Amino acid sequence: MEKQVVESSRAAFLSGRSRALGFRVQQLKALRKMMTERRSDICEALKQDLNKSGFDAQLFELLGLEGEISLAVDRLAEWAKPRPVEKTLLTISDQVFIQPQPLGVVLIIGAWNYPWAVTLQPLIGAIAAGNAAVVKPSELSEHSSRLLKELLPQYLDEEMYPVVTGGVPETQELLRQRFDHIFYTGGSSVGRLVMEAAARHLTPVTLELGGKSPCYIHKDCDLTIACRRITWGKFTNCGQTCIAPDYILCEPSIQATVVEEIRRTLQEFYGDDPMTSPDYGRIISQRHFSRVVALLEGCTVALGGSSDQSQRYIAPTVLTEVAADSKVMQEEIFGPLLPIVTVSGVEEAIRFINEREKPLALYVFSSSNKVTQRMLAETSSGGVTVNDVMMHYTQSSLPFGGVGLSGMGQYHGRHTFDQLSHLRGCMLRPLALEGLNRARYPPQDPARLRRASFFMLTRVASCPQLSCVWTLLASILALGLLIALLVLLLKGRI
Ligand code: NAD
Repeated sequence: MEKQVVESSRAAFLSGRSRALGFRVQQLKALRKMMTERRSDICEALKQDLNKSGFDAQLFELLGLEGEISLAVDRLAEWAKPRPVEKTLLTISDQVFIQPQPLGVVLIIGAWNYPWAVTLQPLIGAIAAGNAAVVKPSELSEHSSRLLKELLPQYLDEEMYPVVTGGVPETQELLRQRFDHIFYTGGSSVGRLVMEAAARHLTPVTLELGGKSPCYIHKDCDLTIACRRITWGKFTNCGQTCIAPDYILCEPSIQATVVEEIRRTLQEFYGDDPMTSPDYGRIISQRHFSRVVALLEGCTVALGGSSDQSQRYIAPTVLTEVAADSKVMQEEIFGPLLPIVTVSGVEEAIRFINEREKPLALYVFSSSNKVTQRMLAETSSGGVTVNDVMMHYTQSSLPFGGVGLSGMGQYHGRHTFDQLSHLRGCMLRPLALEGLNRARYPPQDPARLRRASFFMLTRVASCPQLSCVWTLLASILALGLLIALLVLLLKGRI
């Protein structure tokens, strides 16, 4: 079944219809139409999957997708056109450029935490880049998954962009097929399986994984503002956000104030009892519920800590006196637990971060430029936001992706287009000016090598106008020669 779906998607790609920019724009607009017309159904599915509020569904899933579609529609012609590059004297009269080309059939495997955003965002890039795509939403967000399977064929070219639903066996069967790119979002253990399967066909992969994203609060910053922003980023979607701050690093002297500010913010956001707040989410499944609750064992709970299995509810929880080797610090939490680990200052915070795997995101709160510059210069992470959390994700012009164990490859805006294109290097040479080429032909001698190195090592800026200048110079030379010939002719010398 999966095999046939991939074959039919490949047949659609080979038909060539996705090469036309008009087709791609039309499909992108149809996707936007789907989201506008079926907004309330999408919000309802998200409510059932994650108790996501309509507000959050729009803010975190639909708005970003609409922005990405509008950007792609507006900029597609520019992204897809040949990109002139720097030349050398040897290639000065050539056309040298990068031509983005579709890759073929892309497999998109989505995760459940933002089931629409992380599944459709790569699809937008795949469509824009002229690919066919097989879309595999996560089985855990089952309502969204079912709705996507129902809606996508109603709006998009069904053969070109099929949806496959199902769990592990279906995904594994898909992974046995040959694709031209695999775009996976999810945890790192499955990420390894995806990469292994891709290796069998030498298929390139983008792995959007997770990890423990640190949040360093320097004592000089406005703690009220810092804690409000952190509380929002940590507890939205019940902590199930790949770039949520996983834990806080701060000096012991500000720990109590940090806890107090988070407590006040939680009260402001979700009232006395977050369980009754329409704005507070739920854990996706019983398995994840048990996993997150188990992380609480042996911890000092400063705020929250309660849970209700029947609703898969876990209260927004802050943990203090957390040891670096405790269980909650060994894996990505992906739930509403916020440990605070104390450090002696920026120096130790940097060491703490660098001793661990490179995270997907890093957050620094400080009013000192020196502190933030040190953090930027001396650590590594997929992305970083200073004095806020998660906001770098919203900027389509920034590449989004991990580094090291947090993933590979990047996307958003034009970066998705480039990631899912083959950037073909093209050189178009004239058959004329053969004299210039002698320097590289036998018989070999040192003079030819000197000439070759002069021509090859002299770079010429990439400037489309330069070829005009070159043509102009050649025309002036030709005109000069013509005039000289005429003069000689008139004087009767030839
Ligand atoms: P998940 O369980 O939904 O799995 C993701 C996908 O992998 C699903 O489509 C599922 O069908 C497939 N899958 C699961 N087990 C498989 C197997 N054995 N073989 C083949 N395919 C399999 O999602 P998850 O892994 O629980 O997602 C949470 C993780 O995703 C977190 O680590 C989070 O940080 C990360 N994440 C990253 C991003 C990002 O943009 N970098 C975004 C969202 C989530």
